[in-house]
Amino acid sequence: MKILFVYPGFQRHAASNPELLDFVPMKEYLGSPSLGLAAIAGATPRDWTVEYRDDRLEPADRPSDADVVAMSFFTPAATRALQLADYFRAQGKKVVAGGIFPTMMPDEVQPHVDAVVVGEGELLWPGLLRDVQNGQLQPRYVAGAVDVDQLPPPDLSIYFGSENESFRPDDYPLQVSRGCPLSCHACALPGTMGPKARALPMSHVLAQARQIAEGGRRACLTEDTGWLPGTAGSKRMIELLRHLVDNGRPLTVSYIGISMPMILAAPSNFLKLAKDAGVDMFYLVGGFDPVTMNAFSGENPRAYLRAVDAIKKSWDHGIEPYTSFLLGNEGDDEGTVDRMLSFATESGIKKAEFAVFTPYPGTPSWHKLLAEDRILTRDWSKYNDANVVFKPNKMSPEALHQGYLRLWREFYATRPEVCERSEYERTIQF
Ligand code: SF4
Repeated sequence: MKILFVYPGFQRHAASNPELLDFVPMKEYLGSPSLGLAAIAGATPRDWTVEYRDDRLEPADRPSDADVVAMSFFTPAATRALQLADYFRAQGKKVVAGGIFPTMMPDEVQPHVDAVVVGEGELLWPGLLRDVQNGQLQPRYVAGAVDVDQLPPPDLSIYFGSENESFRPDDYPLQVSRGCPLSCHACALPGTMGPKARALPMSHVLAQARQIAEGGRRACLTEDTGWLPGTAGSKRMIELLRHLVDNGRPLTVSYIGISMPMILAAPSNFLKLAKDAGVDMFYLVGGFDPVTMNAFSGENPRAYLRAVDAIKKSWDHGIEPYTSFLLGNEGDDEGTVDRMLSFATESGIKKAEFAVFTPYPGTPSWHKLLAEDRILTRDWSKYNDANVVFKPNKMSPEALHQGYLRLWREFYATRPEVCERSEYERTIQF
């Protein structure tokens, strides 16, 4: 039998706001897909034939000889995913959906598919396929958080096989742990992977690293959980970095996700280890933590100074802080845009991206804003950090949107040299 894996398309910043391409003269860059489908492909029994389609590159709603269509998607792709599900079911295919959005909103997805997988799906996947073969597919499979010691490594070859001249991602994600004990208001990770940090076995991490290195790609570690002091994820991150140092850097890392409090809390030798392992860039996740949420409200000078210190500490260790600014937190007002721009100049940030605060379904913010009747739309295609989908606390939705555009425009207007450097073009994902 045959499975068609589909990665549904979604809009990024420039597709939602084409004027951005005038402000920031770089090409739109499509990054690698998330790990979800590769993880399921790695758990697929070898007697199944596999095909993969990336709907961002070519519309996936084309005829197929597959028996099962499997999709994994997050909120920005949910609208398109449900359209694709309807299309494939009309073709007589069995459609299975998993990933962040189906885990958070299974009832929203259920009417469009034959089965929803809630939680981490790898370990129940072979059983689900047996149910397909036996004509006993169930409408819902609830996995929860799995025992990571049992996990097969993801199969990234399905992604590598989809590359062509116009689509060659610079890096692919590498995961060292799952779950997070914190509950940052805007984050979906604890809701999808559980509140306990579980380190993947080192053999699993190295199997991912080997695939990426042998494919001639770089690895990005997008999640910031590897920096939470004393957690299993942090221990595994240190082990991976030591492995890279001790073995002559067999893998190149493009960037690692981190937040300002984590930089401030990280011992200097941890940051030095990252630098020695070849890490030249942090992806600095902003707007989720107390430092960045308060630094730009204008009412907390101490948080502002701590944010300056975090950027300085990153530079001092030779690691460039590529900073993500989230506009629209509860304390943000129209003055926040100027404060963010001043901060970026004062702290020497060369490269940044700007996002509209988005209450992703299932996060603490989603539940709060829903309870306060401040959700403006359930058009999931607008939940992509580039549209305003809620009523902000201290400004109008229009002012928030204009502020977001002004951040992009004014930040890059003063840094024309950044736009001329190709490595930036590859990593800023419009
Ligand atoms: S933002 Fe990072 S630290 Fe906060 S809950 Fe999400 S994964 Fe955990």
